[in-house]
Amino acid sequence: MCSFELITDQDIVKSYCTDSSNYPGYADALVRPESTSEVVEILKEANSKKISITPIGNRSSLTGSAAADGGWILDTSQMTKIIEINHKEKFALAEPGMMLSDFKKKILDEGLFYAPDPTSEKECFFGGSIATNASGSRTFKYGSTKKYVRALEVVLASGEILNLRRPEIEKNTFGYLPFQSMVDLFVGSEGTLGVITKTEVELLDKPENFFGGMAFFKTLNEALDFVIAVRKELLKSGPLITPRACELFDNYALDIIRPDSPFKIPQNALAGIFFEQEYSLDFEKILERWLEFLEKNNAIVDDTIVAEKPKQQDELRRLRHKVPSTLFEEGGLYVNNGGGKISTDWSVPIFRIHEIIDYAKKISDEAKIQEPVIYGHIGNGHPHYNFIAKNAEEKKQILQVVHSTCKKVTTMGGTIAAEHGIGKIKKDFVKYQYPKQLIEAMRAVKISLDPNNILAPNNIF
Ligand SMILES: Cc1cc2nc3c(=O)[nH]c(=O)nc-3n(C[C@H](O)[C@H](O)[C@H](O)COP(=O)(O)OP(=O)(O)OC[C@H]3O[C@@H](n4cnc5c(N)ncnc54)[C@H](O)[C@@H]3O)c2cc1C
Repeated sequence: MCSFELITDQDIVKSYCTDSSNYPGYADALVRPESTSEVVEILKEANSKKISITPIGNRSSLTGSAAADGGWILDTSQMTKIIEINHKEKFALAEPGMMLSDFKKKILDEGLFYAPDPTSEKECFFGGSIATNASGSRTFKYGSTKKYVRALEVVLASGEILNLRRPEIEKNTFGYLPFQSMVDLFVGSEGTLGVITKTEVELLDKPENFFGGMAFFKTLNEALDFVIAVRKELLKSGPLITPRACELFDNYALDIIRPDSPFKIPQNALAGIFFEQEYSLDFEKILERWLEFLEKNNAIVDDTIVAEKPKQQDELRRLRHKVPSTLFEEGGLYVNNGGGKISTDWSVPIFRIHEIIDYAKKISDEAKIQEPVIYGHIGNGHPHYNFIAKNAEEKKQILQVVHSTCKKVTTMGGTIAAEHGIGKIKKDFVKYQYPKQLIEAMRAVKISLDPNNILAPNNIF
């Protein structure tokens, strides 16, 4: 006899079965624990009966990772407490189910700063961002989520609770290096190793000031050259400009934001770079440095957008978010035809960005597929390519091109999945990243922690 409620009404359960990838999931029931002890109880029950459990956050995943493959869906939305915000040691301890943007706002209201900022921060949970090692535009300066995770409480498939803390020592030769911080094993594990029930994250001092901006270029190549110039500038001692974000809009992405942009977007611009700059100096002085740098690097300087006020800054971020959300909606129109949105998540070392973009264009042209919309985290060598396939045949052709690009990025020291993870729909690309023996070793870790393979089955492997 279990004390938690098992919701089996299929009208309710079905509404939790997919995520933002539109992957068709299915499940028998939904459970909504309110505490770690309830998660323990649910997992013990499920494990004893070999019932699959897919933990979910707000199901904004773009890979099908939050779409259950049978069994029970474990919804974390009732676990919303921030247990502690510690000013002295600068950390916060929280449950997984709070919207990430709400969590960040609470931290900011306390005069502190939580850096990770996935574009979907108003659509994803704090816990989901930990389970996917999310990153965002400010990753350019601050790094991805894993850098901020200090400790985790995790419930294993057996119902046992693990309390893990990142070692703070400076030297360590214990065992295999990737296992030296067990925290890192669980960050980004996409629900496959355990349910994350509490996370302690590092906080920073709130930056004094920042301004947002968008610079425009007459060609995509000039925008890429500009990004390379920024990265070279950052390698200097005492760099003059130090953006915290550096995000690309290609000509199609600019077309998406033009209609309701409160800012002028010049007609002759074929690419834009959205940036944010923190400063403690005089605003006029830092702006002058930026404009000089932009001029030297072929931007259409007179049309540069500068967002000094919070409302303008929010507008710029809204425009950045509008690109993926518009494409997501457009892709949804073709799902019933066997088509939909196909988005890439590969990245390469930044100084090889021209090479991969030229390669991707060449193979797209050869395959005569429709041109993608290219946007996103270019400062990290991580542009998203979004294709809209109108039917199954187009999807097949586009996927062939994406396969070739993924193969290529792994020969260039890149990754096939920089921030969205593998989930269910990127599994075909895994073989390009590592030899099969190493993928099997990763799977062996999963099975040793979850011998009945009940947790998020079909994710990653
Ligand atoms: C418009 C749009 C823009 C996006 N932009 C970005 C971006 O800039 N950067 C980025 O990184 N991602 C982005 N994403 C993808 C997605 O928002 C992130 O992966 C996000 O972190 C997922 O959080 P979620 O709460 O929605 O988790 P879900 O989608 O519900 O789950 C994702 C995975 O985490 C697991 N999981 C969730 N909670 C837990 C838990 N408590 N314990 C164990 N496992 C758990 C699930 O099983 C699943 O495998 C975007 C998505 C959309 C729709």
